[in-house]
Amino acid sequence: MSDMKNLSTTPAVHALHPAEKPGILVKPGAEPVLKATNITKWFGENHVLRGASITVWPGETVCILGRSGSGKSTFLRSLNFLEDPTDGTVEIDGVIVGADPFHTEGGERQERIREVRMRAGMVFQEFNLFPHLSVIENCVEAPVHVKGMDRKEAEAIAEKYLAKVGLLEKRDEYPSRLSGGQRQRVAIARALTMQPKVLLFDEPTSALDPTLVGEVLKVMADLAHEGRTMIVVTHEMDFAHEAADRVYYMDKGEFAEVGPPEQVIDEPKDPRTKEFLSRFRTLGSKK
Ligand code: ADP
Ligand code: MG
Repeated sequence: MSDMKNLSTTPAVHALHPAEKPGILVKPGAEPVLKATNITKWFGENHVLRGASITVWPGETVCILGRSGSGKSTFLRSLNFLEDPTDGTVEIDGVIVGADPFHTEGGERQERIREVRMRAGMVFQEFNLFPHLSVIENCVEAPVHVKGMDRKEAEAIAEKYLAKVGLLEKRDEYPSRLSGGQRQRVAIARALTMQPKVLLFDEPTSALDPTLVGEVLKVMADLAHEGRTMIVVTHEMDFAHEAADRVYYMDKGEFAEVGPPEQVIDEPKDPRTKEFLSRFRTLGSKK
Protein backbone atom coordinates (compact mmCIF):
# COMPACT_ATOMS: atom_id res chain seq x y z
CA MET A 1 0.00 0.00 0.00
CA SER A 2 2.66 2.46 1.03
CA ASP A 3 3.99 2.92 -2.50
CA MET A 4 0.58 4.35 -3.39
CA LYS A 5 1.04 7.22 -0.99
CA ASN A 6 2.04 10.34 -2.81
CA LEU A 7 3.85 12.30 -0.17
CA SER A 8 5.34 14.88 -2.51
CA THR A 9 5.00 18.41 -1.26
CA THR A 10 5.67 20.11 -4.56
CA PRO A 11 3.52 23.24 -4.68
CA ALA A 12 0.32 22.32 -6.48
CA VAL A 13 -1.07 24.59 -9.14
CA HIS A 14 -4.49 25.78 -8.07
CA ALA A 15 -7.03 25.06 -10.77
CA LEU A 16 -10.57 26.43 -10.63
CA HIS A 17 -13.43 23.99 -11.01
CA PRO A 18 -15.57 25.09 -13.99
CA ALA A 19 -18.44 25.82 -11.56
CA GLU A 20 -16.27 28.04 -9.37
CA LYS A 21 -17.27 31.55 -10.36
CA PRO A 22 -17.49 34.51 -7.97
CA GLY A 23 -20.89 34.74 -6.23
CA ILE A 24 -23.28 37.68 -6.41
CA LEU A 25 -21.90 39.58 -3.39
CA VAL A 26 -18.29 39.41 -4.57
CA LYS A 27 -16.83 42.74 -5.66
CA PRO A 28 -15.79 42.74 -9.32
CA GLY A 29 -12.11 41.88 -9.74
CA ALA A 30 -11.73 40.48 -6.21
CA GLU A 31 -9.20 37.70 -5.76
CA PRO A 32 -10.15 34.51 -3.90
CA VAL A 33 -9.67 34.82 -0.13
CA LEU A 34 -9.25 31.07 0.32
CA LYS A 35 -7.70 28.52 -1.98
CA ALA A 36 -7.21 24.95 -0.87
CA THR A 37 -5.38 22.86 -3.41
CA ASN A 38 -5.21 19.09 -3.67
CA ILE A 39 -5.81 18.49 0.04
CA THR A 40 -4.88 14.90 0.76
CA LYS A 41 -5.02 13.04 4.05
CA TRP A 42 -4.04 9.55 5.07
CA PHE A 43 -4.88 8.27 8.54
CA GLY A 44 -2.60 5.21 8.55
CA GLU A 45 -3.79 3.17 5.57
CA ASN A 46 -7.09 5.05 5.39
CA HIS A 47 -7.06 7.44 2.43
CA VAL A 48 -9.53 9.97 3.82
CA LEU A 49 -8.98 12.96 1.52
CA ARG A 50 -8.09 12.29 -2.11
CA GLY A 51 -7.01 15.64 -3.45
CA ALA A 52 -9.90 17.98 -2.62
CA SER A 53 -9.68 21.59 -3.81
CA ILE A 54 -11.90 24.59 -3.15
CA THR A 55 -11.91 28.27 -4.07
CA VAL A 56 -13.80 30.89 -2.08
CA TRP A 57 -14.08 34.58 -2.89
CA PRO A 58 -14.66 37.24 -0.23
CA GLY A 59 -18.37 37.61 0.48
CA GLU A 60 -19.31 34.08 -0.51
CA THR A 61 -21.02 31.34 1.43
CA VAL A 62 -20.33 27.82 0.25
CA CYS A 63 -21.78 24.63 1.68
CA ILE A 64 -20.20 21.19 1.81
CA LEU A 65 -22.57 18.25 1.78
CA GLY A 66 -21.83 14.55 2.04
CA ARG A 67 -22.55 11.45 3.99
CA SER A 68 -21.05 10.72 7.37
CA GLY A 69 -17.45 9.55 7.09
CA SER A 70 -16.86 11.08 3.65
CA GLY A 71 -14.14 13.41 5.00
CA LYS A 72 -15.98 16.72 5.43
CA SER A 73 -14.68 17.45 8.94
CA THR A 74 -11.16 16.38 8.06
CA PHE A 75 -11.24 18.71 5.04
CA LEU A 76 -12.54 21.66 7.07
CA ARG A 77 -10.03 21.02 9.86
CA SER A 78 -7.23 20.85 7.27
CA LEU A 79 -8.04 24.41 6.21
CA ASN A 80 -6.72 25.76 9.51
CA PHE A 81 -4.34 22.87 10.25
CA LEU A 82 -6.26 21.36 13.13
CA GLU A 83 -5.50 18.33 10.94
CA ASP A 84 -2.15 18.32 9.20
CA PRO A 85 -2.80 17.28 5.60
CA THR A 86 -0.52 14.70 3.98
CA ASP A 87 -0.32 16.72 0.80
CA GLY A 88 -1.75 19.93 -0.58
CA THR A 89 -1.62 23.66 0.06
CA VAL A 90 -3.88 26.13 1.82
CA GLU A 91 -3.85 29.85 1.08
CA ILE A 92 -5.98 32.21 3.15
CA ASP A 93 -5.80 35.96 2.64
CA GLY A 94 -2.32 35.68 1.14
CA VAL A 95 -0.87 33.38 3.80
CA ILE A 96 0.28 30.13 2.20
CA VAL A 97 0.93 26.90 4.11
CA GLY A 98 1.81 23.62 2.44
CA ALA A 99 1.63 20.12 3.83
CA ASP A 100 4.71 19.05 5.73
CA PRO A 101 4.27 15.31 6.31
CA PHE A 102 7.90 14.73 7.25
CA HIS A 103 8.09 17.76 9.55
CA THR A 104 11.05 19.19 7.74
CA GLU A 105 9.89 22.79 8.10
CA GLY A 106 10.33 24.52 11.40
CA GLY A 107 8.98 27.41 13.42
CA GLU A 108 8.44 29.64 10.43
CA ARG A 109 5.70 27.28 9.20
CA GLN A 110 4.14 27.22 12.68
CA GLU A 111 4.02 30.99 12.55
CA ARG A 112 2.19 30.86 9.21
CA ILE A 113 -0.26 28.32 10.66
CA ARG A 114 -0.90 30.79 13.47
CA GLU A 115 -1.57 33.49 10.88
CA VAL A 116 -3.96 31.16 9.02
CA ARG A 117 -5.84 30.37 12.24
CA MET A 118 -6.33 34.05 12.99
CA ARG A 119 -7.91 34.42 9.57
CA ALA A 120 -10.18 31.36 9.76
CA GLY A 121 -12.64 31.29 12.66
CA MET A 122 -14.15 27.91 13.42
CA VAL A 123 -17.57 27.00 14.81
CA PHE A 124 -17.85 23.36 15.88
CA GLN A 125 -20.78 21.01 16.30
CA GLU A 126 -20.27 20.88 20.06
CA PHE A 127 -19.95 24.63 20.77
CA ASN A 128 -16.63 24.19 22.66
CA LEU A 129 -17.27 27.11 25.03
CA PHE A 130 -15.16 27.27 28.19
CA PRO A 131 -17.58 26.31 30.99
CA HIS A 132 -15.70 28.28 33.65
CA LEU A 133 -15.82 31.52 31.67
CA SER A 134 -18.78 33.85 31.23
CA VAL A 135 -20.15 34.60 27.78
CA ILE A 136 -18.15 37.80 27.39
CA GLU A 137 -14.99 36.16 28.75
CA ASN A 138 -15.44 33.31 26.27
CA CYS A 139 -15.64 35.85 23.46
CA VAL A 140 -12.59 37.94 24.37
CA GLU A 141 -10.25 35.12 25.42
CA ALA A 142 -8.73 34.43 22.01
CA PRO A 143 -8.72 38.01 20.69
CA VAL A 144 -6.81 39.12 23.81
CA HIS A 145 -4.49 36.13 24.27
CA VAL A 146 -3.97 34.95 20.70
CA LYS A 147 -4.34 38.15 18.70
CA GLY A 148 -3.05 40.52 21.37
CA MET A 149 -6.10 42.76 21.14
CA ASP A 150 -6.67 45.38 23.81
CA ARG A 151 -9.19 43.96 26.32
CA LYS A 152 -11.56 46.92 26.22
CA GLU A 153 -11.52 46.90 22.44
CA ALA A 154 -12.15 43.15 22.38
CA GLU A 155 -15.10 43.57 24.77
CA ALA A 156 -16.61 46.30 22.60
CA ILE A 157 -16.30 44.10 19.50
CA ALA A 158 -17.69 41.09 21.38
CA GLU A 159 -20.68 43.12 22.59
CA LYS A 160 -21.39 44.21 19.03
CA TYR A 161 -21.48 40.57 17.89
CA LEU A 162 -23.39 39.35 20.93
CA ALA A 163 -26.02 41.95 20.02
CA LYS A 164 -25.96 40.68 16.44
CA VAL A 165 -26.69 37.10 17.55
CA GLY A 166 -29.35 38.42 19.95
CA LEU A 167 -27.57 37.59 23.21
CA LEU A 168 -26.14 40.82 24.58
CA GLU A 169 -28.28 40.44 27.70
CA LYS A 170 -26.51 37.10 28.40
CA ARG A 171 -23.13 38.86 28.46
CA ASP A 172 -22.27 37.84 32.05
CA GLU A 173 -24.05 34.47 32.05
CA TYR A 174 -22.22 31.14 32.17
CA PRO A 175 -22.61 28.61 29.32
CA SER A 176 -24.30 26.02 31.58
CA ARG A 177 -27.22 28.43 32.00
CA LEU A 178 -27.79 28.76 28.25
CA SER A 179 -29.74 26.57 25.85
CA GLY A 180 -27.84 24.71 23.12
CA GLY A 181 -29.02 27.22 20.54
CA GLN A 182 -27.86 30.13 22.68
CA ARG A 183 -24.49 28.44 23.24
CA GLN A 184 -24.00 28.00 19.53
CA ARG A 185 -24.91 31.66 18.93
CA VAL A 186 -22.28 32.63 21.54
CA ALA A 187 -19.79 30.40 19.71
CA ILE A 188 -20.58 32.32 16.51
CA ALA A 189 -20.16 35.69 18.29
CA ARG A 190 -16.87 34.41 19.71
CA ALA A 191 -15.61 33.43 16.26
CA LEU A 192 -16.66 36.82 14.86
CA THR A 193 -14.83 38.69 17.65
CA MET A 194 -11.56 37.43 16.16
CA GLN A 195 -12.55 39.33 13.00
CA PRO A 196 -11.62 36.43 10.74
CA LYS A 197 -11.55 36.58 6.95
CA VAL A 198 -13.42 33.28 6.70
CA LEU A 199 -15.80 31.50 9.06
CA LEU A 200 -15.70 27.69 9.03
CA PHE A 201 -18.76 25.86 10.37
CA ASP A 202 -18.70 22.10 10.99
CA GLU A 203 -22.32 20.88 11.24
CA PRO A 204 -23.18 23.71 13.62
CA THR A 205 -26.76 22.56 14.17
CA SER A 206 -26.31 18.78 14.25
CA ALA A 207 -26.01 18.54 18.03
CA LEU A 208 -29.04 20.73 18.69
CA ASP A 209 -32.54 19.88 19.75
CA PRO A 210 -34.60 20.31 16.54
CA THR A 211 -36.57 23.19 18.08
CA LEU A 212 -33.34 25.18 18.47
CA VAL A 213 -31.93 24.67 14.98
CA GLY A 214 -33.88 27.56 13.44
CA GLU A 215 -32.46 30.32 15.64
CA VAL A 216 -28.89 29.30 14.74
CA LEU A 217 -29.61 28.97 11.01
CA LYS A 218 -31.27 32.40 11.10
CA VAL A 219 -28.07 33.98 12.49
CA MET A 220 -26.00 32.15 9.86
CA ALA A 221 -28.32 33.19 7.03
CA ASP A 222 -28.08 36.83 8.18
CA LEU A 223 -24.28 36.59 8.15
CA ALA A 224 -24.34 35.07 4.67
CA HIS A 225 -26.61 37.82 3.36
CA GLU A 226 -24.48 40.59 4.76
CA GLY A 227 -21.48 39.26 2.87
CA ARG A 228 -19.52 37.31 5.48
CA THR A 229 -17.30 34.69 3.91
CA MET A 230 -18.34 31.27 5.15
CA ILE A 231 -17.69 27.60 4.49
CA VAL A 232 -20.46 25.53 6.04
CA VAL A 233 -20.54 21.75 6.40
CA THR A 234 -24.20 20.97 6.87
CA HIS A 235 -27.09 18.60 6.27
CA GLU A 236 -29.56 21.50 6.28
CA MET A 237 -30.62 21.47 2.64
CA ASP A 238 -32.98 24.43 2.96
CA PHE A 239 -30.17 26.54 4.40
CA ALA A 240 -27.74 25.43 1.70
CA HIS A 241 -30.33 26.12 -0.95
CA GLU A 242 -31.11 29.57 0.33
CA ALA A 243 -27.73 30.85 1.53
CA ALA A 244 -25.03 29.15 -0.55
CA ASP A 245 -23.41 30.58 -3.64
CA ARG A 246 -22.06 27.11 -4.35
CA VAL A 247 -22.46 23.62 -3.01
CA TYR A 248 -19.74 20.98 -2.92
CA TYR A 249 -20.75 17.34 -2.62
CA MET A 250 -18.01 15.28 -0.96
CA ASP A 251 -17.79 11.55 -1.57
CA LYS A 252 -14.94 9.38 -0.25
CA GLY A 253 -12.61 12.33 0.21
CA GLU A 254 -13.16 14.11 -3.07
CA PHE A 255 -15.63 16.61 -4.40
CA ALA A 256 -17.86 14.59 -6.71
CA GLU A 257 -20.01 17.54 -7.74
CA VAL A 258 -19.72 21.31 -7.49
CA GLY A 259 -22.26 23.87 -8.57
CA PRO A 260 -25.00 26.29 -7.60
CA PRO A 261 -27.48 24.85 -5.06
CA GLU A 262 -30.31 24.80 -7.61
CA GLN A 263 -28.22 22.43 -9.68
CA VAL A 264 -26.46 20.23 -7.11
CA ILE A 265 -29.43 19.88 -4.75
CA ASP A 266 -32.37 20.02 -7.14
CA GLU A 267 -30.86 18.43 -10.24
CA PRO A 268 -27.75 16.51 -9.23
CA LYS A 269 -25.85 15.07 -12.18
CA ASP A 270 -23.35 12.82 -10.46
CA PRO A 271 -24.80 9.42 -9.49
CA ARG A 272 -23.19 9.69 -6.04
CA THR A 273 -24.90 13.02 -5.32
CA LYS A 274 -28.18 11.68 -6.70
CA GLU A 275 -28.04 8.65 -4.44
CA PHE A 276 -27.22 10.71 -1.34
CA LEU A 277 -29.99 13.22 -1.93
CA SER A 278 -32.61 10.59 -2.73
CA ARG A 279 -31.77 8.68 0.44
CA PHE A 280 -31.80 11.95 2.33
CA ARG A 281 -35.29 12.74 1.14
CA THR A 282 -36.65 9.27 1.92
CA LEU A 283 -35.23 9.55 5.41
CA GLY A 284 -37.47 12.59 5.79
CA SER A 285 -34.70 15.02 6.65
CA LYS A 286 -35.76 17.48 3.99
CA LYS A 287 -38.26 19.85 5.46
P1 ADP B 1 -17.30 13.40 8.04
O1 ADP B 1 -17.05 14.69 8.74
O2 ADP B 1 -17.66 13.56 6.59
O3 ADP B 1 -18.30 12.56 8.76
P2 ADP B 1 -14.61 12.73 8.88
O4 ADP B 1 -13.72 13.72 8.23
O5 ADP B 1 -14.93 12.95 10.32
O6 ADP B 1 -15.94 12.56 8.02
O7 ADP B 1 -13.95 11.28 8.78
C1 ADP B 1 -13.52 10.75 7.55
C2 ADP B 1 -12.77 9.46 7.80
O8 ADP B 1 -11.57 9.73 8.53
C3 ADP B 1 -13.53 8.44 8.63
O9 ADP B 1 -13.24 7.16 8.11
C4 ADP B 1 -12.94 8.61 10.01
O10 ADP B 1 -13.02 7.40 10.73
C5 ADP B 1 -11.51 8.96 9.71
N1 ADP B 1 -10.90 9.81 10.75
C6 ADP B 1 -11.31 11.04 11.11
N2 ADP B 1 -10.53 11.55 12.09
C7 ADP B 1 -9.60 10.60 12.36
C8 ADP B 1 -8.49 10.51 13.27
N3 ADP B 1 -8.19 11.52 14.08
N4 ADP B 1 -7.77 9.37 13.26
C9 ADP B 1 -8.06 8.35 12.42
N5 ADP B 1 -9.06 8.37 11.54
C10 ADP B 1 -9.84 9.47 11.50
MG1 MG C 1 -17.97 15.57 10.38
